[in-house]
Amino acid sequence: MPTKRTTVRRLPERGAYDRATIDAILDATCIASVGIVEDGTPLVLPMVFARDGDRLLLHGSPGSRLQRVLRGSAEVCVAVTLIDGLVLARSAAHHSVNFRSVLVLGRGVELEGADKQRAFERIVEHAVPGRWADCRQPNAHETKTTQVIAIPLTEASAKLRTGPPKDDEEDYALPHWAGVLPLTQAVGGPVPDPRSHPETELPAYLMRYVERSGGR
Ligand SMILES: Cc1cc2nc3c(=O)[nH]c(=O)nc-3n(C[C@H](O)[C@H](O)[C@H](O)COP(=O)(O)OP(=O)(O)OC[C@H]3O[C@@H](n4cnc5c(N)ncnc54)[C@H](O)[C@@H]3O)c2cc1C
Repeated sequence: MPTKRTTVRRLPERGAYDRATIDAILDATCIASVGIVEDGTPLVLPMVFARDGDRLLLHGSPGSRLQRVLRGSAEVCVAVTLIDGLVLARSAAHHSVNFRSVLVLGRGVELEGADKQRAFERIVEHAVPGRWADCRQPNAHETKTTQVIAIPLTEASAKLRTGPPKDDEEDYALPHWAGVLPLTQAVGGPVPDPRSHPETELPAYLMRYVERSGGR
């Protein structure tokens, strides 16, 4: 259910609050814009994130300003935006963008112990499913020097636009080209590290990732 703060007021028919819609948008990317306020200055920083059931996970160096603010249980805003197309209308004013976006408001909680270890796995698996079992696990030093913050998914909203332009009725007679220019994120073929072990082959989970994303 939306709260007073997360109720979409502008074009409310585009708002969605069900977890299936919100989760599908969150699971389609691993980059979020995280908004904080530090000493009265608003800052929005790009970050890797993962969804872990009913919470979002963020990680970074405990020494960074961003992480300092996050562990102080300050209120933060996490925004995720997927762009699906440029919408070209007959009138300049009705040009638009097809998009799916999510906004999460909440306070971070720092994770420790087994929960923190599990979070590392989720962060890697959210980005590339299958990868956790195919890399070295974090050692004691890496674990100590990485902070993990969880933000509950209790106050979240989605907003989506799909479909063709919505012109004023009298403008449909105009001859200008109108429609949607689809935009997608392309996945290219994996580029092996030149220092790879000579016997290392492309793992199946990576082939699946590329195939699922329509890459070559
Ligand atoms: C795709 C992506 C994913 C990232 N994922 C993570 C992550 O998971 N965890 C993490 O801790 N960090 C991540 N970063 C880096 C993050 O955006 C910050 O740069 C970093 O957290 C340091 O923040 P800070 O406030 O301590 O930086 P400071 O160095 O204290 O910031 C000082 C100033 O530097 C500038 N600045 C800082 N960061 C950026 C930036 N990204 N772009 C442009 N200007 C900047 C701003 O003007 C800022 O006010 C990611 C960056 C990118 C681009």
